[in-house]
Amino acid sequence: MSPLRPHRPLPLATPAGVEVLTRILTQGPIPRVEIARRTGLSQAAVTKAVAPLIEAGFVTDQAAAPVDNAGQLAMVGIGRPVSPLTVVPHSVSIIGLKVTPTALIGVTTDFTAGIRNVSHRALPSTDAQTVIEQLTDLAKELIATLKNDAAVAGPVIGIGVSVSGDVDERHGVVRDSPFMGWREVPLAELLGRRLKLPIVVTNDVRALTVAEHWFGVGVDADSFAVVTIGSGIGCGLYINGEVVSGAYGVSGELGHLPLAPGNLVCTCGRRGCVETVASSDAILNRIRKSTKQPKLDLAGAIKLAHDGDEHARESFDQAGEVIGSALAAMVNLVGPELVVIAGEGVAEYDLYEDRMRQAFGEHAFGAAGDCRLMLRSHTFDDWARGAAATVIRAYVRGEPPLQR
Ligand SMILES: [Zn+2]
Repeated sequence: MSPLRPHRPLPLATPAGVEVLTRILTQGPIPRVEIARRTGLSQAAVTKAVAPLIEAGFVTDQAAAPVDNAGQLAMVGIGRPVSPLTVVPHSVSIIGLKVTPTALIGVTTDFTAGIRNVSHRALPSTDAQTVIEQLTDLAKELIATLKNDAAVAGPVIGIGVSVSGDVDERHGVVRDSPFMGWREVPLAELLGRRLKLPIVVTNDVRALTVAEHWFGVGVDADSFAVVTIGSGIGCGLYINGEVVSGAYGVSGELGHLPLAPGNLVCTCGRRGCVETVASSDAILNRIRKSTKQPKLDLAGAIKLAHDGDEHARESFDQAGEVIGSALAAMVNLVGPELVVIAGEGVAEYDLYEDRMRQAFGEHAFGAAGDCRLMLRSHTFDDWARGAAATVIRAYVRGEPPLQR
């Protein structure tokens, strides 16, 4: 299968070239002089790095068409345009796929991680073979969408797949995903064989953090954490200029900090994990038991709590308490400037937000507590976009499996 026209390699011969393109991609529109200022490179070096990128159609010089905030930049100097640079969004396309136990979510994006198409499909089972077949079909469907759109969609450079759990990103192997019931699944190899494209497999929360680093809050924040709250509780960290991977591939496992009572067993098999009281499944199970309504769903549980049901409210309170303590533990250790709390449903935030902030305030040490907690609703499409962002990063940096 040929994915549109084959993509051209990025003309980036030096680390300076990678740095320059990264600035244009994440901070553009940006004039050459500003790239030089921010990177410490000479203007001549910036110009030299940019020329082949413009020539090959990956970057464009905006001098002739100042728009939006670029318009302001174009007026710097005495009537002389300073030619802000931007990447050409449709110079390449990327497929991002997110695996959940019940559904696959797929997106196509452009070079700036802007979503172009979305497709979801239900999963009949979490069996690895079944999921790989479905992922292959979904990727082919999305590639076909791009072919229909070939006038504005660039060639596909790769496919990002994000999965919860312990993922060996170097080798593209899902080592342990409790939600999927997977152990040692060589996902990149199996998908690559079927799709004949580079496959980047990443832990889902880390993929989301990569997207925030390059295309979200990371553009303005020097350090941040992304905390996801839903059926699992995850945490991606960005500090000292890099998304933290962990020496062994695991880091930021906020949901498995042992801050809950030790009598409850987690999906990971350990006791006392934050997720045993604070995941949406844990909250729902607790409310089902206390209200003796075994068929209650999450929406029903949220409604009960909003209606003032004491048992339901108490479960959300307990979740808020444990999440707030876990956030304080993480902030005390890492000291980020900002924590983005991203949830799959914003509906229940108000049920635990106060308690969460209270517990955070009680346990945050000194100035670490100045860290802002920003609550944000996000969708499953954002997870898939995160997977696409990992491909964009690997492409620009020339990292495996997208070596130039
Ligand atoms: Zn656990």
